[in-house]
Order: sequence, then C-alpha cells, then structure tokens
Amino acid sequence: MSLILNNISNVKEQVSQWKKQGLSVGLVPTMGALHHGHKTLIEKACTECDKVIVSIFVNPTQFGPNEDFNKYPRTLETDATICESVGVDAIFAPSASEMYPDMNTYTKVMPPEFYQNKLCGKSRPGHFDGVAVVVLKLFNITQADKAYFGLKDAQQLMIIEKMVTDLNISIKIVKCPLIRDEDGLATSSRNKYLSASERKNALCLNKILQKIKILYKEGETSTNKVKQEALKLLSGGVEIEYLDFYKTSNFKETSTLEQNTLVAIAAKVNNVRLIDNIILEN
Ligand code: AMP
Repeated sequence: MSLILNNISNVKEQVSQWKKQGLSVGLVPTMGALHHGHKTLIEKACTECDKVIVSIFVNPTQFGPNEDFNKYPRTLETDATICESVGVDAIFAPSASEMYPDMNTYTKVMPPEFYQNKLCGKSRPGHFDGVAVVVLKLFNITQADKAYFGLKDAQQLMIIEKMVTDLNISIKIVKCPLIRDEDGLATSSRNKYLSASERKNALCLNKILQKIKILYKEGETSTNKVKQEALKLLSGGVEIEYLDFYKTSNFKETSTLEQNTLVAIAAKVNNVRLIDNIILEN
C-alpha cells in the first residue's frame, strides 16, 4: 500500500530514512485526478528510482482569480489506487495551509519575464510564479534526486529547468513525452469537464498540430503558411487562444519551421481551457 502523507515533517522523516539506506528518491509532482499521462511519468520514476513520491496538491497560488481552482477535480482515493498499482512508495497530499501557512506573506519565486511573456504566460499572469514556488518547495521537502515532468506542459518544463540551473538546485529533471488518448486528445485532468460533443470538437487541436507536422514533412517552412492552412481544421465551439512557434533551443519565437520547433496550441472549448503541442522532428 502506498503511504499517504499529509505533513511536510513526515515526508522529511521518511526521506531521511531512505537516504540513510543509500536509496535514490524520485518525485512526480501532480495536481491529482491522475490519468494515463501522469501514469507514464510515475512508471518511469518507478523504473529509475529506488523510492518514488507522487505529490498530489491542487496548488492555489498557480490559479488566477477567475480560473477553475474550486472546481478542479479532486479524486484522492482513485489516485491512491493508481499509485498503488504502479508501485509508488508514498503519496504526499498536503493541505493548502500545510504548504502555505500564511497565504498572504510567503517568499515568491519569479521565473524570468522572457520565459513568462509568451504562450500560457500571456493569459495567465502569475501562473508560473505559483508553479515555481510550489515546485521549489516540493524539491526541498522531498530532497528528490530526480523529478519527472511531462512535455504536455512545455513552457512549465522550460521554466523549471531554468529555475534548477539558475538557483543551483541539485536535482535531475526528467522530461517525459506527451501522452494522448486513443482518439488523439492529449490526456488532461481537465478533459473530465468536456461533454462527448465538446470532446469531439476538441480533437481538432491534435488534428491542427498533425497537419502542421505533415506540411513541414512536405517541405513547408513558413509558420504563417502552415498556420493559415492548419487552422482550416478548426471545429465549431473551439476558440483558439494561441497557435505559436518557438525554438526549443532558446525559447524564441520563430517564423521558420525547423527540427525541434515547438508548435504549441491553446484553446477554449466551452470555457474549458486545453493545451497541446508537438516538437517537429526531421
Ligand atoms: P498536472 O497534474 O496537470 O499538474 O500534471 C502533472 C505532471 O503530469 C506535469 O509534469 C504534466 O506535464 C504531466 N502531464 C499531464 N498530462 C500529461 C500528458 N498528457 N502527457 C504527459 N505528461 C502529462
């Protein structure tokens, strides 16, 4: 049975026992409502580390005032069963007050503006500050050797890697591929909000990305042209927030498609905000 720990002190105690035995520790930070995408991260952690902690915490500081913090799915029991089936050693599921004893006065971590002023950062001011502080806290609490993050949240991953480098944190960040359901929709805890017909409409996000991939393989390199062509696949009821192109090497916007270009899309489907992306390969 995976141990469920709610207190920071209990996690620290458990980890120090493991470390005394010379065991390596892997951390998979999540907000719960675990799905197949999370599961692949957890499985990878379990194959690479002696002990694995999955954190389940719907982090209030990364939600904007008009976002879905209150209605975000919370399914700890089912999550625990999934963790158990994969062989997780401990679940860290703290309360908000355990993580932020004083929500109005806590030390902030601010990723550089350059990393924030694009993609999701534009419409979610402060979101990545909240992500950075909670992830840094989780790194410090668990003292993990490795932490696992999905490429589904590509900007988040870039920001965390930058934080680890800039703040000299001794942890290895392991990037895990983006996972899709059989119909092509990127798995997400927010997919639970979609009705059957909304889900069907949401499939156009992946279709748009796949179209861009095909056009690139056929030799097209203009981002404007592929964007114009691919957006013809947009379904009704889907409101695009962005379809943007970035070099993964330096996180700069690009007008030319090439190997390793990040093609990222965000859209609202009846007010449910979804993100997806691909990284072009030759
Ligand atoms: P979340 O619970 O949404 O905060 O996600 C926790 C971790 O799981 C993050 O590192 C995400 O990038 C990762 N993740 C979520 N969905 C997917 C997916 N479809 N494929 C790969 N990783 C994912």
